[in-house]
Amino acid sequence: MDIEAYTALLPEVTAENRPYWDGCAAGELRLQACDACGARWFPQAPVCPECLSGSFTWKAASGAGTLWSWFTMHQRYLPAFADELPYLVAYVKLAEGPFMISTLVDPPDELRLDLPVRAVFEPNASGRTIVKFAVAEGAAR
Ligand SMILES: [Zn+2]
Repeated sequence: MDIEAYTALLPEVTAENRPYWDGCAAGELRLQACDACGARWFPQAPVCPECLSGSFTWKAASGAGTLWSWFTMHQRYLPAFADELPYLVAYVKLAEGPFMISTLVDPPDELRLDLPVRAVFEPNASGRTIVKFAVAEGAAR
């Protein structure tokens, strides 16, 4: 992986999204939770997408989710991932509701909709810890 090109793709750490990145470094998937209606959302936003309240609390999510969709990237789209080809892009629906785009580590040969997955935390050379997903223990592969 071209780590400089990869690092350039990462969002800047700001005061607003720092709780998410600090959570990743601590091995915890943190999402904003609306103090008014309880909605959870990702990515970070200044107001609740459900009720527009600006009052929220960062809370740890379970890390559980299901595979909602996926594809395998065969063509070079981002130079940073040129030597990762082919790679899996996974669209995961978190148990709390929000979706995340990531990848699966050690994916089974055959994937299926609603495959239970869990968040895993992978430190990399960029200095950030990135959320990826693995097939949940006990899930039929
Ligand atoms: Zn709300």
